[in-house]
Amino acid sequence: MGLLGILGGMSWESTTSYYRLLNQGVRERLGGLHSAPLLLHSVDFAAIAALQQQGDWAEAGRQLGVAAQGLERAGAGALLLATNTMHKVAPAIQEVLDIPLLHIGDAVGQALQAQAVRRVALLGTRFTMQEDFYRQRLAERFAIEVLVPGSEAMAEIDRVIFAELCRGEFRAPARAFYLECLEQLREQGAEAAILGCTEIGLLLEGVAAPLPLLDSCERHVAMGLEWLFAQAD
Ligand code: GLU
Repeated sequence: MGLLGILGGMSWESTTSYYRLLNQGVRERLGGLHSAPLLLHSVDFAAIAALQQQGDWAEAGRQLGVAAQGLERAGAGALLLATNTMHKVAPAIQEVLDIPLLHIGDAVGQALQAQAVRRVALLGTRFTMQEDFYRQRLAERFAIEVLVPGSEAMAEIDRVIFAELCRGEFRAPARAFYLECLEQLREQGAEAAILGCTEIGLLLEGVAAPLPLLDSCERHVAMGLEWLFAQAD
């Protein structure tokens, strides 16, 4: 197996899911005491979230780029940036690396394409739902049309992510609201839904949803596992 780097902490609630799922995936495949060879750089999310609020994406990209270079220097052969939102600065990070950044949008797009989904609902932070970096990648590379909630619902989904999910709070009212949004998007023609924020899977775990759910964290981990197993020993 190779050595996979995780650039996480955004938030650490979902980074723990990456860590658990990567290790489970290796154990399922190789059995015994096998576990995933990983390097983790976990940031202080408060600093990154503040840069998001200020709109200083260049500085966020620079800081994450420095962290990513550290993982590369320490021996990582590829990286998972364990957040959808910060893929807004994926090009800036990739630019300073010689190793590949395994893009979460491609992990999601490939899974949707394999399921022949053409029109999909997207829940995530307002940056992920509103801006081009995620939706455009799905449209251009995978010919998938993305539907997002209206602006009021979008604001509430975003608020819940930062005020609750990223703080480890997974509550019934938020769960009910997210399911309501998914039902509305189903009525508008969505065939499936992307949980396009790595903490949403923790909120909706085990819940009966109106649409098939595609968890970006799980798909991204699957991409990481594929990379790990493809490396020669
Ligand atoms: N983990 C979240 C995501 O997947 C939100 C935190 C962030 O803004 O990075 O987008």
